[in-house]
Amino acid sequence: MSKKKQFGILCSFLVLTSSFILHGENKLPNDIRWVRESSEYNNLCAQIFTQARKEIIKTTKSERNRKNHAVVVDLDETVLDNSRYQVERWETGLSFTQDSWSDWVNREDAELISGAKVFLTAIRKEGVQVIFLSNRMDSNLKPTLRNLEALGVLDSSDLFLLRKNKFDTKETRRSEVLEGKGRMKKHGPLKVIGYVGDQMGDFPNESKADFGKSNFLLPNPMYGKW
Ligand SMILES: [Mg+2]
Repeated sequence: MSKKKQFGILCSFLVLTSSFILHGENKLPNDIRWVRESSEYNNLCAQIFTQARKEIIKTTKSERNRKNHAVVVDLDETVLDNSRYQVERWETGLSFTQDSWSDWVNREDAELISGAKVFLTAIRKEGVQVIFLSNRMDSNLKPTLRNLEALGVLDSSDLFLLRKNKFDTKETRRSEVLEGKGRMKKHGPLKVIGYVGDQMGDFPNESKADFGKSNFLLPNPMYGKW
């Protein structure tokens, strides 16, 4: 084989290899790509919120005394789409850290999950109290409020139970809602007719019968306790 031919083959090999490497590096991992780029993700979220809206309105209309009905809604990957944070971490080759997460929350750049706005507007109209119960730190309440307001999903009637410290579990806060104690003392006990979240920890029970009735689970392939 001539030297010229050998050089040609080598060049072709290098071009093929480098394009493979570049393509591989540029392509987002499937989990993040599904959330950011697929119609399936958006339609699935909207579908779940539609079902949640119908079931919750049906429940609240079926009870005469419905003054104290509430729905407990998670924030991240339920109402707020933080997939851009996941992209940025992936681009830098780093994983989740509390500091980088706090920086992200303070940027107020989270986007809106499909279907969330219609759902929240509809249940508020029925007199259902919306309670955002999230593991965002309570110290990050202000940027969270501004982010929600900019997305058009904040109402002055909404209540927030964010995490005060590592002992302040979601279970603790859920019992404050049900028993009207602690941070919920001035509101009195509320009857929670629905929970919406993306992690099993967003629900008080894992009873299969409750999913689709009072528990509404959004998809999140990017992180979780699996
Ligand atoms: Mg969440």
